[in-house]
Amino acid sequence: MNNSNILHNDILKILKKSSKVLLTTHTNPDGDAIGSALALYHYLILNNIPTQIVISDDVPRNLQFLPDSKLVESYNPNRHNSYIKSTDTIVFLDLNEISRTRLLAPILEQSNAFKIVIDHHTNPKDFANLLYSDTECSSTGELIYRLISADDDFKITQNIAECIYVAIMTDTGSFRFPRTTSEVHRIIANLIDAGADPYKIYDFVHNQNPLKIIRLLGIALSKMQIHFNGKVCIMTISKEDFASTGTNYRDTEFFVERTLSIEGVEIGILLTEVFERGEFKISLRSKGEIYVNSLANAMGGGGHLNAAGATIKSTSLDSALQSLINQLKIKYN
Ligand code: 5GP
Ligand code: MN
Repeated sequence: MNNSNILHNDILKILKKSSKVLLTTHTNPDGDAIGSALALYHYLILNNIPTQIVISDDVPRNLQFLPDSKLVESYNPNRHNSYIKSTDTIVFLDLNEISRTRLLAPILEQSNAFKIVIDHHTNPKDFANLLYSDTECSSTGELIYRLISADDDFKITQNIAECIYVAIMTDTGSFRFPRTTSEVHRIIANLIDAGADPYKIYDFVHNQNPLKIIRLLGIALSKMQIHFNGKVCIMTISKEDFASTGTNYRDTEFFVERTLSIEGVEIGILLTEVFERGEFKISLRSKGEIYVNSLANAMGGGGHLNAAGATIKSTSLDSALQSLINQLKIKYN
């Protein structure tokens, strides 16, 4: 038995001994966050372990087709604090620091429950009792697959297969990012055999946009700026752009990818105004050996080598853009 099998068995043992489990994930949850949480939720419920998923935001519209996505609850202190206080195991999925749970962070920090992190982001912070981190891995969904597969008495159900499929599909950019290994494809083959339908799932996740989101994309594309001799492309979206299209920052999830489709661009950035919170969200993407995680770290964020992000405070979109360009100057000078 190798080391990761021991770790999987330890985690399964702890979960199976728990009387109440809380699953949580990061703010602005993506397909990997929601898919991983729901996959593990289904597994635990089928093993008769009382479990709740509580997160800081709500489930994005394009993931609401996932089985039992309605059971993912948005944190409300009045409704959830007593459950959280009485839980004996908390699993943090797809995050490397507790602050990524945003509104939940204070109560989770105080909790005496056994804390498990399952994640693939670089530089995991030491805040849990047990850390299952593999920064080489495509997605947290892939780790959940490995974990559940280590249970010899359990056969992956269609619901679980669909949730893990979404997690891996979204975090590999539909199987094209560098971490798309042959092992990922073998796992995907098993998930299809277990009932996940690639065509249906892709259609739900990517082809059900309201027109207003595509209109917003049009505005964002038309305003793209090129900097640093064509190496950096920056897309900005202001509160006026959101207002004129009736959208908000959560409707921009796949926009930043477009910046890397331009010849010569090695870093692509989306800067959006989160006017509800007076903040600016920065999404960073890069190609090959050009890394953006240090850039994100310098702005108080984090992420992966080729996909990272940060949230900053600033007085205006222009001044946020200027601080971003100043950070880039450090990298390019
Ligand atoms: P996205 O640009 O899609 O929001 O995020 C890209 C990656 O960077 C994700 O893996 C996400 O977890 C990470 N990331 C985005 N924003 C932040 C942030 O504010 N703090 C940290 N630590 N990571 C972030
Ligand atoms: Mn992920």
